[in-house]
Amino acid sequence: MSQLKPRHASLVDITSSDGALIDTGLATFMPGPASYTGEDTLELSVHGGRIITALTLTAIMSAGARVAEPGEFTRRAFEAGKLALTRAVAVADLIDAETQAQHRQALKQMDGALEYLYSGWRTQLVEILALLEASIDFPDEEDAPDRVDGPISLRLLGLKSDLQKALSDGNITERIRDGFKIAILGKPNAGKSTLLNQLAKREAAIVTDIPGTTRDVVEVRLTLGGYLVWIADTAGLRETADIVEAEGVRRAKKAGEESDLRIWLYDARESFDDGLVQPNDLVVANKSDLGDPVDVSRETLLISAKNGEGILAIEEAIVSHLSGLTAGASAPVITRARHRQGIERAFRHLDAALALLDNQSGAEFTAEEVRLAARELGGLTGHVDTESILGAVFSSFCIGK
Ligand code: GDP
Repeated sequence: MSQLKPRHASLVDITSSDGALIDTGLATFMPGPASYTGEDTLELSVHGGRIITALTLTAIMSAGARVAEPGEFTRRAFEAGKLALTRAVAVADLIDAETQAQHRQALKQMDGALEYLYSGWRTQLVEILALLEASIDFPDEEDAPDRVDGPISLRLLGLKSDLQKALSDGNITERIRDGFKIAILGKPNAGKSTLLNQLAKREAAIVTDIPGTTRDVVEVRLTLGGYLVWIADTAGLRETADIVEAEGVRRAKKAGEESDLRIWLYDARESFDDGLVQPNDLVVANKSDLGDPVDVSRETLLISAKNGEGILAIEEAIVSHLSGLTAGASAPVITRARHRQGIERAFRHLDAALALLDNQSGAEFTAEEVRLAARELGGLTGHVDTESILGAVFSSFCIGK
């Protein structure tokens, strides 16, 4: 490798261990520590094709290399202090990104926004902990503990409200990553399955004119306007004696409650009961091909799910709704369930710390809660080197990377 000019692609012969030519390709040598993992790295680009790659791999293995574990490159980079855990996670998100919104979000996270935020919180906790420890070690000192109680509780309160704000973000960043949920609701035979199939551009749900056919929630995953969405076709909402259908209706209601957007679909030739409609829901009249809508009192989209008329307008309405939801989410705060759980636990420890401080239970107890909160946040940035956390994070990568 010493003959290769660092960070330059050189044309080389790739040979097997017995010297037989396999291919000519490009070799790029990146000496450590200025490489992704911090170690000496060699990248080979060979002509594609199974036999060339298989023979090249065999030659590399016989020279002593092995195949990397999932996430191993990024893990090595993390262990060499090249990137924080939140950035390592962003690499995984970047690789997995399928939509523009996911891509934009992963790039922002790569930027280190999350890392600064989480480690900033943790630093504040460590400082508070130092103050508390000082009051334990030097209880008779002028400054401690009474004098520090005020600032400590204020700082804890400030931090607690920061965490609270982050937790009440409406899950937008997680939604960008994992997909927004949209439920199509309405009476049996309104055309919900037909609409789902139109949006999915395939026959995902069964369409029949027998009411009550869709008994479970059928979900389809698709990309709309750069957003990943899960659209759910639900059982028609009606009173029914059929136990299976009744369970479907229960699930439909649940899907409606959990979704980020509800689309109420009704047959334009019937009147629509808007009893369950909430402010930002979309109300859509279907079957425009069969005649004019009966109910003209409300502003609804008019479509024909059967012949595709008005589908573009629904898609536009969905995308505009999602853009509205994401407009405020300029910097990702919580992008993964693991982050949310860690922050929630840290929040509870802060709450407990404040209660202990209020009850004057002793600085040791408060300190312990603050330490636990710091530990939770440390687990998110990789400051707390727990094998299980690292294992969980890096195993989600695909092989190598
Ligand atoms: P769901 O029970 O709400 O899921 O309704 P389906 O999608 O199964 O549709 C019920 C019936 O209405 C089927 O026979 C569909 O072909 C028909 N249908 C759905 N949308 C339209 C439409 O826009 N125009 C017409 N003429 N028929 C439709």
